[in-house]
Amino acid sequence: MSSEFEQKLEKYAEVLLKVGLNLQPGQRLLIGGPTLDADGVPLESAPLVRLLAKKAYQMGARLVDVVWGDKQLRLIRFQNAPKDSIEEYPKWRIDARYDISKAGDANLNFTSPNPDLLSEVEPELISQFQTSYYKQMKHVYDLLTSNAFNWLVASVPNDDWADKLFPDVPQNSRKNKLWDIIFEICRINQEDPIAAWEKHNDNLVKRCNYLNQKQYTALKLTAPGTDLMIGLPKDHYWEGGRGTAQNGIAFTANIPTEEVFTMPHKDKVEGIVSTTKPVYYGGCTIENCVLKFSKGQIVEAQAERGEEFILQTLETDEGARSLGEVALVPHSSPISQSGLLFYSMLIDENASNHIALGQAYRDSLKNGKELTDEEFMAAGGNNSLIHLDFMIGSGEMNVDGILEDETTEPIMRNGEWAFDV
Ligand code: ZN
Ligand code: ZN
Repeated sequence: MSSEFEQKLEKYAEVLLKVGLNLQPGQRLLIGGPTLDADGVPLESAPLVRLLAKKAYQMGARLVDVVWGDKQLRLIRFQNAPKDSIEEYPKWRIDARYDISKAGDANLNFTSPNPDLLSEVEPELISQFQTSYYKQMKHVYDLLTSNAFNWLVASVPNDDWADKLFPDVPQNSRKNKLWDIIFEICRINQEDPIAAWEKHNDNLVKRCNYLNQKQYTALKLTAPGTDLMIGLPKDHYWEGGRGTAQNGIAFTANIPTEEVFTMPHKDKVEGIVSTTKPVYYGGCTIENCVLKFSKGQIVEAQAERGEEFILQTLETDEGARSLGEVALVPHSSPISQSGLLFYSMLIDENASNHIALGQAYRDSLKNGKELTDEEFMAAGGNNSLIHLDFMIGSGEMNVDGILEDETTEPIMRNGEWAFDV
């Protein structure tokens, strides 16, 4: 008899492979590879990774390979490596992800935050590393943001993360508590998790269909500290839950996911917006941030914490000052209801309406994948090395859609959907 935890871990692995990746017979699967936060999957995820490998082969995978990465080594590098070497990144790790992406095979990555690990490292060094990393990874992210292959980002707990979230819980049960919450928000505790995901994905697709049919020319977001008009490009496309990769496989790129999203017109954002949750981004925390937009660009940025990091990030490239994503998430989503801040963008962005500075997803525009960079930008799409999400939603936010003839319709009231599907 396996323990209750082992049974849930099995179900989690199944949801990741069947709903997340929808792994197909004959596909290769790479678990890990470089992400902004880590050089590969954490060593602590080994039991789950082994389970995934076994199940992937049972589902007909041709080859399962793993790129491991220990985040402590990132810190050791920042503290000890020569400063003029920080922009180097091992090419073989990038190649591992590129080969799989280019071939249309599957890639699964974990986020496993270690929120305070880099808190003593100079923000300038981190942002220098990040800019260089994104430049070297651009060809991989180009394939990813155009969904050339089926990919997935999911979570796996680690001790430091659990310590940060639950300092008041006895130390030896913190990681289990984190697992419990991840199982809950990933619908693993439900009778049939895969059926629950199918139903949830269907609902998200219905919301998208409604919004796609409306083709609002702009969204108006209002809340305390926020009065923002977000112009939407012609032929913008809302997506959420399940999407189809260019290899023809219907997959769900994030587990969990609660959002529907599209892209703003990069030149048509006006007004002021205040963040409602801290943002944890590659080792830096940004808190109580206020951004002012004019003609699509940030003209003023202030933050109680992390202001220096934001100002540096805005200098990354031309697109870093404009939006690439706007996403809607009801305030009653299970993640939001947990009341926790996870220090994980994957989870936290699914607790709240959010906007992202930087790169837009090609699929957020009809036929977006067929456009050159110039055509995509001319249509209102943003190109940048960064993609930085800011949570701005709350139970006090109203969202209105503005139609072609300038009439206004409610989309959200007090953080909840204002239309039925
Ligand atoms: Zn999003
Ligand atoms: Zn985003």
